[in-house]
Amino acid sequence: MRSSDPPVVAPDGGPPTTSRGVLWLGLHCDVRCKFCYDELVPLREKAWMPLEEAFGALEKFRGFYHNEFVDFMGGEPTLHPHALEIVAHAADLGLRPTVITHGMRLADLRLVRAYAEAGIHDFLVSIHGIGQTVAEIHQRDRHNYSRQMQALDNLRLLGIPFRFNVTMIRDNMSELEAIADLAGDKGARVVNFLTFNPYFEWAQQGEIEFQARHSEIAPHLAKAIDRCAQLGVEANVRYMPPCQLPGREAHVYTGFQLPYDPHEWDYNSWYDAGHEGRPLPQWYLEASRQQQQRHGYIHVPACNDCALREICDGFHPQYVARWGGEEASPYPGPPVQDPTHFIRGQSKLRYPTTASDEAAHRLEELRPGSLADVHRPVGEDGRAGVRRSRRPR
Ligand code: SF4
Repeated sequence: MRSSDPPVVAPDGGPPTTSRGVLWLGLHCDVRCKFCYDELVPLREKAWMPLEEAFGALEKFRGFYHNEFVDFMGGEPTLHPHALEIVAHAADLGLRPTVITHGMRLADLRLVRAYAEAGIHDFLVSIHGIGQTVAEIHQRDRHNYSRQMQALDNLRLLGIPFRFNVTMIRDNMSELEAIADLAGDKGARVVNFLTFNPYFEWAQQGEIEFQARHSEIAPHLAKAIDRCAQLGVEANVRYMPPCQLPGREAHVYTGFQLPYDPHEWDYNSWYDAGHEGRPLPQWYLEASRQQQQRHGYIHVPACNDCALREICDGFHPQYVARWGGEEASPYPGPPVQDPTHFIRGQSKLRYPTTASDEAAHRLEELRPGSLADVHRPVGEDGRAGVRRSRRPR
């Protein structure tokens, strides 16, 4: 199926599957967020992705996987020496580019203009707190919050859309409602509230001091979701079991719901899974199970009686080892098989999918047969193209 075909929709005409790829440009960053997955990765494995490799990956996203959007991840991708060229190449291909960033370098209006000229679609800015909380989480203070606020003003000035990411930890859980207010004030279209996932290097750590229980975060999060609703801002909660947010499940995305969020990543291109074109919902259901297993999520005894068991990740084993599973609150009723059961009731920001004539022409030039052999290295942690060694000096 080419991108001009109708989108693949969930069973019963529910939300379409995402067509967003993700490309890690390298793990180098200039702050040290205390919860970062990459904090424990050795510096020698934080080299940047070469330009030609990035171009090849983007061409495969577009020509083979038929993605229409791409997120650039780091580290801090704005530090990549060829970030602007990579963004421009994505835009030329008809892959609308998003940069996921702490935003601080965008306090420089000239850089924001350069991204606009390169064809940026939007920015996903990590706003992990209000005021000094940001610097404390970044563990490096260079007027971080004021630079972020300047960046948001610059984006607004130039009419570049932006969304927020916030990783919810003990340090910022009482500020979630204020972050929702900030989104409304500054004009963010979406806020993603992310549960801290003890993945990768964190998985073996027992007592992580900044980690908070779902039941501690949930009251603050519920208020923040409601505030977003009042302000017309889309609120998404990632990786928290739906039973932790009764009445607000339409906002909750575990690994089973992710394929139906246009702001999330396509398992197919994410893991370079090799299915040409856009798979059907059944493919994504199986990919969601694999993702659940990849990160080792488990159901606790109470989940055995839950109607959502087949479409909910459950809990991370580190979380269960630390706090047990008493927070699980099973849903009564017959088993629910449709991952969009709740989220189909959420109002989502949707993007027009018509590519420009020029981008459509570029797409015709991409040959799926030859792109099938373009592969990014997949690291031990399952992320494609992430860790790469610096050349020895
Ligand atoms: S399966 Fe378990 S964790 Fe998921 S919603 Fe049900 S009780 Fe909660």
